[in-house]
Amino acid sequence: MPFGLGIAKGMMVTLRNLARKPVTVQYPEQRVTQNPRFRGEDFVWYEERCTGCASCAKYCPQGIIKIVTSPSGEQTQEGEKYKLETFDIEIARCMFCGLCVEACPYDALHMGTGFERAMPRKSDLVITVDELRASAKRPSTWFRPQLQDRGYDPASGEEVSWQDAGREATVAPTYDDMLKRWVEKR
Ligand code: SF4
Ligand code: SF4
Repeated sequence: MPFGLGIAKGMMVTLRNLARKPVTVQYPEQRVTQNPRFRGEDFVWYEERCTGCASCAKYCPQGIIKIVTSPSGEQTQEGEKYKLETFDIEIARCMFCGLCVEACPYDALHMGTGFERAMPRKSDLVITVDELRASAKRPSTWFRPQLQDRGYDPASGEEVSWQDAGREATVAPTYDDMLKRWVEKR
């Protein structure tokens, strides 16, 4: 690259933005359209999918997810399911990176879409297991390509079941596919 071209390119970007008309939105009376992939400050959790494995907590770079489980006495034939006693997310320190969602092996945890949870006290910025249980099941389409392909928009208010929100809704192989891949090819 010739000397100075990079600076000229950078200056062009600055000049273009200097000439651009500013966009002003009178929030909260006016609102911009939110992208369905927006990673909000709430979380959508499907308890029936959650095994209490705590992968989400282990992968969180901030260490802000606290999970406490106990034996539930349910589904003992399958090895017994854990009961979630605590599932706290301290969102005051959350950076909404979504790594917890990516780490969940069962697609039980999804990013939400909210952004208006300002609180006077930092200690109130904790999402508890009760809140997760009660929250509307309107996940962000981020990391959920099948929801995006379907044109789902959480802002529409429509709730989705875990069957529709999980990635296996579209990518799960059929029994015949698995037979070919894991049995007949070996
Ligand atoms: S979004 Fe990122 S920072 Fe927030 S809880 Fe999940 S992994 Fe942690
Ligand atoms: S939300 Fe997912 S990763 Fe977290 S404990 Fe439940 S199953 Fe495990």
